[in-house]
Amino acid sequence: MTSSMKILYASAEVVPFAKTGGLADVAGALPKVLAAQGHDVRVVLPRYGSIDGEKFGLRPVTPTFRIPHGNETIEIRIEASDAIPGVTTYFIRDDYLYDREGLYGQADDDHRFVAYSRAILEMLPHLGWMPDVINCNDWHTGLVPVYLKTLYAARPGYANIATLYTIHNLAYQGHFSPHILELAGLPRELFTWDKLEFYGGFNFMKAGLIYADALSTVSETYAEEIQTPEFGERLDGVLTYRKDDLYGILNGIDYHEWSPATDTFIPAHFSADDLAGKARDKALLQQAMGLPDEPDTALFGIVSRLSSQKGLDLLEAVLPPMLEELPMQVVILGTGDAHYHAMLERLAAAHPDKLAIALKFDNALAHRIYAASDFFLMPSRYEPCGLGQLISLAYGTIPVVRATGGLADTVKEFTGRGKGNGFVFTDYTPEALTEAIIRALKCYLDIKGCWNKIVQNAFACDFSWESSAKKYVKVYKAAMKKLEKMAAA
Ligand code: ADP
Repeated sequence: MTSSMKILYASAEVVPFAKTGGLADVAGALPKVLAAQGHDVRVVLPRYGSIDGEKFGLRPVTPTFRIPHGNETIEIRIEASDAIPGVTTYFIRDDYLYDREGLYGQADDDHRFVAYSRAILEMLPHLGWMPDVINCNDWHTGLVPVYLKTLYAARPGYANIATLYTIHNLAYQGHFSPHILELAGLPRELFTWDKLEFYGGFNFMKAGLIYADALSTVSETYAEEIQTPEFGERLDGVLTYRKDDLYGILNGIDYHEWSPATDTFIPAHFSADDLAGKARDKALLQQAMGLPDEPDTALFGIVSRLSSQKGLDLLEAVLPPMLEELPMQVVILGTGDAHYHAMLERLAAAHPDKLAIALKFDNALAHRIYAASDFFLMPSRYEPCGLGQLISLAYGTIPVVRATGGLADTVKEFTGRGKGNGFVFTDYTPEALTEAIIRALKCYLDIKGCWNKIVQNAFACDFSWESSAKKYVKVYKAAMKKLEKMAAA
């Protein structure tokens, strides 16, 4: 084993405590694997009101203490849970800021995440534990690298903490007015184009990208894509400037959580060798969702945020003719833009035998859809990594995806030679998506040939975290080296 590191993993959402999307899955799985590989790993997130303190055995681990916040100080305390095996998870508790319904999208998110970043650093002496590296994630933690290089640089114990800043989705940047400087207690001189200023405002994501020792994102293809204007979300210049410190490391999935042989959310278990349970899950899902339980009709599942990033505008164009003409059923679980809710409600009412929808966030139903479907649709406009396609493969459910970001890295078109695990299209057009679906349906009808083979290929895929976790450790070491080099310069 390589030498053990002390790693603090800072994420605004973490499975099993709080989740809105893939970031939570990663934050719940990667630290656990790093710990199993011998590292001292701890996780930190805000203590949201929705977190069940009793269920997760939360206990206070520090007395209350005050941290600076704008012109005042605020009182926080740290709680901890051992719910993630081998990992201590810390919760920043300030009921005024975090005891709310929902995780983000509050009017005072600026206050909430400035305080979160500050508290991460302020809690360390109270815990008596200084990490070698802090792995920051997405805009909520963008200030941590800034603080370490400025206000905290000369404080005892902080100079040797390296940072890796991981981008899970470049589009969510935390863009606010310059008042963040005062709130965060940062000097006005930092508000220049090459540091914290961004089109006249303050951008948490850019702050992290400029100040962290190393940067990463969640697939190799996305690491390349974000250096171009098309995917760069106005930060491609910064990312190109830092390209030598930017790494792409593919996400894995937690096969303890996503396994057809043990999944507690699905009615019938199954495996690559015995698919009877999958057929039963399909029939039961069809019944539960009000669809005719036809075993031979191809069932397409979607579990997704309903946004244009996820290709909902393509689906809007493609679903009406497809539901009219093709022998298929579609089940959609998701929440998001009101426009897409209305569109799906209209379509489901018009095609009750072919389209069933559940417009909500429902983890148990998500498991059932991954297990029961024949195909999983992800026609994303862009996709940093994507977890849905990895989860579906674990259940022998064949992904139909657009070749972008992590989808391009993990799903390969099935070929006549029997290789490949899905169906892939490139152009972001209704025609290209329709053609991919037609190729998928043709394969589905060739039960003994193509279909048998592709399902086995899907089960054979391995996207477990072990190898990616080792790559993270290498990048943590690169970040520490970079910090040393900067200190020596
Ligand atoms: P995102 O961009 O939303 O993070 P990912 O594919 O990386 O996309 O991860 C999405 C995660 O959230 C997956 O675990 C998926 O199953 C889950 N998910 C998305 N929407 C829902 C929903 N409505 N109900 C339950 N789980 C959902």
